[in-house]
Amino acid sequence: MCAQTITPLQAINDEVFYAELVMRHSSDAVVICDPERKTLWVNSAFIQQTGYSLDELRGKEPGTVLQGTETSQKTAHEIDSACRQRREIRVDILNYTKTGESFWVDLKVTPVYDSTGRHTHFISTMRDITERKCLEAQNEEMRHAEALRQSERQLLALTSEWLYSAKSFEELLMVIRRAMHTLITEADGALYIYDSGRTMLELVASWGTMPEFDLHIMPDDCWALRRGRAYAFGLKPIEFVCDHVSKPGTPYFCLPIVAHGETIGLLHIVFDGFEEGGIMRNLRDEVLRNRWDISLICAEQISLAVANVRLRQELHEKSERDPLTGLWNRRWFTEHSKLKVNIAQYSGKPLAFIALDIDRFKQYNDEHGHEAGDFVLSETGRLLSDYLPEGLSACRLGGEEFVIICPDHDEEMAINQAEAIRLEIAKFQLVTSGRLLPQITVSAGIGLLGRDGQTVDEIMKAADLALYRAKNGGRNRVVSCVNQEQAPEIDDNEP
Ligand code: GH3
Ligand code: MG
Ligand code: MG
Repeated sequence: MCAQTITPLQAINDEVFYAELVMRHSSDAVVICDPERKTLWVNSAFIQQTGYSLDELRGKEPGTVLQGTETSQKTAHEIDSACRQRREIRVDILNYTKTGESFWVDLKVTPVYDSTGRHTHFISTMRDITERKCLEAQNEEMRHAEALRQSERQLLALTSEWLYSAKSFEELLMVIRRAMHTLITEADGALYIYDSGRTMLELVASWGTMPEFDLHIMPDDCWALRRGRAYAFGLKPIEFVCDHVSKPGTPYFCLPIVAHGETIGLLHIVFDGFEEGGIMRNLRDEVLRNRWDISLICAEQISLAVANVRLRQELHEKSERDPLTGLWNRRWFTEHSKLKVNIAQYSGKPLAFIALDIDRFKQYNDEHGHEAGDFVLSETGRLLSDYLPEGLSACRLGGEEFVIICPDHDEEMAINQAEAIRLEIAKFQLVTSGRLLPQITVSAGIGLLGRDGQTVDEIMKAADLALYRAKNGGRNRVVSCVNQEQAPEIDDNEP
């Protein structure tokens, strides 16, 4: 058997035949253009991919037919420029079918030359990569969401650090306003805290662009407070709007603020613009679902921070309060008396100290018992707290000795104030263990900034001297005098 010989013509015919087979059955679309990029021929995959027939494309530059509104102009220019320079180019580009549907292709345009080196054609192959692009877009979305979550987590960590370092309630509110606005940028918000009687909640902070928050809300007006759990309005087909809400159609969250197991307030977050007809309406579900988790975390962080500040304040308060009378203690007096003197000196206003001492208290204790004595002290503390006008500070320096700091009080005002207290205390009707205790009296001495000196020590020395004189003069009286003499000896046997 002899081998079959193949003539050159046959070989060319075979090649053409095979090439045609490939072109016909290739799943990639192929377009052949002349050097001016006018279409000469397309394969069947192209017709299938785009819906255009050869007749509809013939003589036209494929890009003018296939590109559309969302096609990147930059990519289109890159192709133009490569073709002008007769360079091969490979790009991802968004094309459109005849019916207007967009699809992504991996496009490769190759200039073709004949054996003499003359540029004769462009061949474009286009592979549909829409699926890959979708996956890429999804991945990108996930990466973006993850990056967002990551930055949210960082911001939350930073926020909680600030929240925990807040020393006062005012400082805490400042941090909350700033943090909430940064963490949930799309929303306005408000923080309400129960008043001392727990009858209603007071607005203590608000942020965002919608300042129309009620100053007070009643607990019964809020679904979250009534049900004792966070409430979202705007996500469910059946839901009811809280009575405290000023714009009833606007989506919002209400999140109780709970400290040590007790509800102490409410975090109210409002998504203005996300209501029916609002400019952000289309993003409503996505944004609300996204922001729910972070809102819960914020409410929790704020709860802990409020509890933390309250505890700090309680401890601080305790360290400056006398437990028996509830008045400021010596520590507070030492710190604040200097401050009051400085303020008065700076403003040029008068300042008086009233030194107050219960008369014959040792005897009182001896006759009626230490418990009765304690009762007298605590009632004196209560009276001073209730009776004194705002701005005056009553302190228990120790034993049965008190001092009252009276800013803006000259000598006459201070004497009148001390007299009024003396008379009020003399009116005490104290009953303990079913027993009416005998009345007590107090003596008072006045010290004045300027007249008696410029320092706390000098003013106190004058007040003490005046007090000694009051005692010496028969007790149950108020004395004000110039600090120039030594304190006289007190005769303890004096009636
Ligand atoms: P005078 O009119 O001169 O001020 O006489 P006095 O007895 O009030 O003065 P003195 O300073 O000699 O006595 C103060 C008494 O106060 C001594 C103590 O028994 C009593 N005392 C001090 N601290 C307390 C307290 O916390 N509770 C009670 N029950 N008594 C106290
Ligand atoms: Mg006394
Ligand atoms: Mg005393």
